[in-house]
Amino acid sequence: MIFDMQLTYQPFELLLRHTFTIAKFSRNSTPLMLVQVTHEGHTGYGEASMVPYMGESHQTALAFLDKVDPLNFKYPFNYDEIIGYLDSIAQGLPAVKAAIDIALHDLDGKLQGKPCWQLLGSNPGLMPVTSFTIGIDTKEIVVQKVKEAEGLKVIKVKLGRDTDKELIQTIRSVTDVPLYVDANQGWTDRKQSLDMVYWLKEQGVRLVEQPMLKTDMDGNAWLTEHSPIPIIGDEAVQRLPDVAKAKGVYHGINIKLMKSAGMHEAQMMIKKARELDMKILIGCMSETSCATLAAAALAPQCDWADLDGPLLTSNNPYLTPDMVNGKWVLTDAAGLGLQL
Ligand code: MG
Repeated sequence: MIFDMQLTYQPFELLLRHTFTIAKFSRNSTPLMLVQVTHEGHTGYGEASMVPYMGESHQTALAFLDKVDPLNFKYPFNYDEIIGYLDSIAQGLPAVKAAIDIALHDLDGKLQGKPCWQLLGSNPGLMPVTSFTIGIDTKEIVVQKVKEAEGLKVIKVKLGRDTDKELIQTIRSVTDVPLYVDANQGWTDRKQSLDMVYWLKEQGVRLVEQPMLKTDMDGNAWLTEHSPIPIIGDEAVQRLPDVAKAKGVYHGINIKLMKSAGMHEAQMMIKKARELDMKILIGCMSETSCATLAAAALAPQCDWADLDGPLLTSNNPYLTPDMVNGKWVLTDAAGLGLQL
């Protein structure tokens, strides 16, 4: 029997349009690993986005991919077995595992002649609007970024410094669209955090992501109990076992393919969160159209989407998918619908 499952990959440096500053650091680019799996003349595309604070790099991804034997990807794919195989090669490294999982889903769709959103049971009519993220910056740059975001329906603001209120007021001076806030663990005092949440609610903020340190479960749980708007765990929630741990600490979770090791486990996290009556935000790292379309295929199963990767980068190697009324458009193309 002839197997022709082939795995290829190339490092790539994704450039950001603006220096990106959040509560804990700044950066101008993000290392990616672009992955392809080819079978019977069809190629599936995947991507790892390795933001530095997550601990992955071109080096760790190359070392991992070197050890992957694509003959273990037997078609039809058993994703539980495949993720078990990838986890057996090395602990952690969810982004490079996601790259393989995304490529296999894209390939799967192409082999079946069906779009990934259909394989995953999503209803495109339920696609949420995607938010556009604005990092911490000077007043002039923030105003410029808000103007660039014209046409987008929601803005996500990175907070976590002592100038938080001024940043919100600057944004409010140019737009009245709803806001999401991400504190990236930058808040420390629970009473001050609650005062801030009430103030933010008056400013039209709809949810707050990861207010305090992920290790401060009591503090985050207290804030969740008292907050008038949803509190969402992001850094605290990586893979499937973290969903149950987040129950009672947050109203909801932020799922990202680069944390969940891909689309398959992300969908299991969605199911688990629904069982636990938790809200779901699907988010992204700095990503190309590839990982964005992979997350968009699952976004209709979530409450909110924060999938702005291609809007914040300047050298996306793929075409940017269509966006209508602030929502990514899912097409009938087989696989992810990625256009080279
Ligand atoms: Mg976040």
